[in-house]
Amino acid sequence: MDNTAQDSDIVARVSDLTKSYGSGSTSVTALDSVSVELRRGEFTAIMGPSGSGKSTLMHIMAGLDSATSGGVFIGDTDISNLDDTELTLVRRRRVGFVFQSYNLVPTLDIRSNIMLPFELDGREPGVEDHRWIDELVITLGLAPRLGHRPHELSGGQQQRVAIARALGARPELVFADEPTGNLDSRTSREVLGLLASASADYGQSIAMVTHDPIAASYADRVIFLADGRIVADRGRSNASEISQFMLRMDHVS
Ligand code: ADP
Repeated sequence: MDNTAQDSDIVARVSDLTKSYGSGSTSVTALDSVSVELRRGEFTAIMGPSGSGKSTLMHIMAGLDSATSGGVFIGDTDISNLDDTELTLVRRRRVGFVFQSYNLVPTLDIRSNIMLPFELDGREPGVEDHRWIDELVITLGLAPRLGHRPHELSGGQQQRVAIARALGARPELVFADEPTGNLDSRTSREVLGLLASASADYGQSIAMVTHDPIAASYADRVIFLADGRIVADRGRSNASEISQFMLRMDHVS
């Protein structure tokens, strides 16, 4: 029975996940038998050197790329067995994304871009949804820009729209790839505060790829990848502990 209680706290997991690109002598193993669970309401940072498999892991967990072998679950659903239509529905209902390329719709204004997940899901936002979206828009400094089109905004502003869109509909899982990469330090801190609030106050599970120990210090948990394997899985850590661990990893590899 204990297992059942624990399972309900797991929003996504991969088991024995291997991903290889190419074949024969040119084959690259991006992920090598990785097993990891993302828990409900937890903010997880994924760190590791360039090429260690962070993006591949995130894309496969989000159903954007397929595994070579192993299981990939969102909730209890094994997404590796879904057809494209079913997979699209699971992603739309349960997953939000913040990519480095912002994927905003150029013909829609900022307000419509932020509301797009509701639109696609045929869902009318409620009072609490509006309250949260207003908070996102104000915190992210987007209020004066709601009627603009994406091309009228700077890179950092577009990044903030992508964050508002990913968090707005409060999907249970949010994947963010270097979400503070293009932001100044004050906006970065605010974005990280929002991600922490989305998990602590709204129970969203956040998985964030980052190179930045300060960004990772906002997370409840820090996972380190090296050469396609998980080499450490730590609880909340401060920036200096994370930096020291990264330095030690560099010496080992
Ligand atoms: P990270 O996000 O940690 O920088 P990636 O997940 O992007 O690492 O890449 C892990 C490994 O897989 C790297 O060796 C990379 O070159 C390789 N890789 C990633 N995507 C592809 C691809 N589409 N085709 C071939 N190799 C790839």
